[in-house]
Amino acid sequence: MSQSLDTTYISLKQVRKAYKIGSETISIFDGMSLDIQRGEFLAIMGPSGSGKSTLLNLLAGIEQPDGGELTIDGRRIDLLGEAARASWRAHHLGIVFQFYNLLSMLTVAENVELPLLLKPLSRSERRSRVTTVLDLVGLAGRERQYPNSMSGGQQQRIGIARAIVADPGFLLCDEPTGDLDRRSADEVLKMLSFLNQSLGKTIVMVTHDPQAAACAGRTLQLDKGYLLQDRRVA
Ligand code: ADP
Ligand code: MG
Repeated sequence: MSQSLDTTYISLKQVRKAYKIGSETISIFDGMSLDIQRGEFLAIMGPSGSGKSTLLNLLAGIEQPDGGELTIDGRRIDLLGEAARASWRAHHLGIVFQFYNLLSMLTVAENVELPLLLKPLSRSERRSRVTTVLDLVGLAGRERQYPNSMSGGQQQRIGIARAIVADPGFLLCDEPTGDLDRRSADEVLKMLSFLNQSLGKTIVMVTHDPQAAACAGRTLQLDKGYLLQDRRVA
């Protein structure tokens, strides 16, 4: 087998996706092909409406392609049913959202613990994992606080802790710095770089922030569902 076949982690082949609005069909992707290597940190940029969120939703198995193939880590995601995709997501994928998506009535520890409730782990194993990831994102000792009492940067770090607590190989980030001031944004980016470089996570991040894109080893420019540019940093 060739080197590239060995290391390709995510492969989209001639993927098509359209949305129906009333009697009108709007085509977003009409034969999108893209290979992402294991351990890559990829930034997706492009104007509003160019298909960035749709691409993330396809990669997350939240949306299904209308045609073509999506293979992740050797598994044909486009052939899985809804329940199988949800289970695949729970085991392999972490998602970081622009507006954190934390539950305000739960403590920091309870928010981070959520993905672990789908796993056969004891309470003490869950606790220990939560403590480990909170430590990793610089929030040790904050377990019993509530997210709303914390800054945006801290809330996004809780979001990152929740995304990695089940130890997925793959992280999807939708505008992870979009709601943050420069300093908090840089902290979050440093953390994502660490997860990529030191822990080997494959990261796909949608961003408008040129400094965020500069952290990635590869940037894609999307325009109206087309790949305008695909650039790797040496
Ligand atoms: P971006 O994230 O780059 O702004 P999106 O992927 O959200 O772009 O959207 C691409 C196009 O698809 C837009 O024209 C948008 O209006 C349309 N679209 C996205 N999601 C849906 C949906 N669930 N139903 C109908 N149209 C959608
Ligand atoms: Mg979007």
